[in-house]
Amino acid sequence: MAIDPQFHENREKVDDHEGHDVWGPVEEPEQLGIHGTHVAVDFDICIADGACLEDCPVDVFEWVDSPDHPESEQKADPANEAQCIDCMLCVDVCPVDAIDVDAGRA
Ligand code: SF4
Repeated sequence: MAIDPQFHENREKVDDHEGHDVWGPVEEPEQLGIHGTHVAVDFDICIADGACLEDCPVDVFEWVDSPDHPESEQKADPANEAQCIDCMLCVDVCPVDAIDVDAGRA
């Protein structure tokens, strides 16, 4: 299952994390929702592959710990989403389609 590109219409903003939005539902530790809006990462799909951290030319992503999450113990957090230059590399390299980027959604 890929990230829902209409998440901003289908989900509710439930929190703020390090300056970016968190879209629910969130039920820690098993369900963590979507982090970010312009650069959105579905934490419940992310398997901590790390390709986005390696490939992003402007270092948008940072690891955050996600102990006891069923998919992975770390997540790629779009901590610096305001720096995104819309190159779409992260969307292309993510093996589980956990990332969606849309400048119009910022
Ligand atoms: S679209 Fe490009 S610049 Fe934006 S977060 Fe993804 S890899 Fe980084």
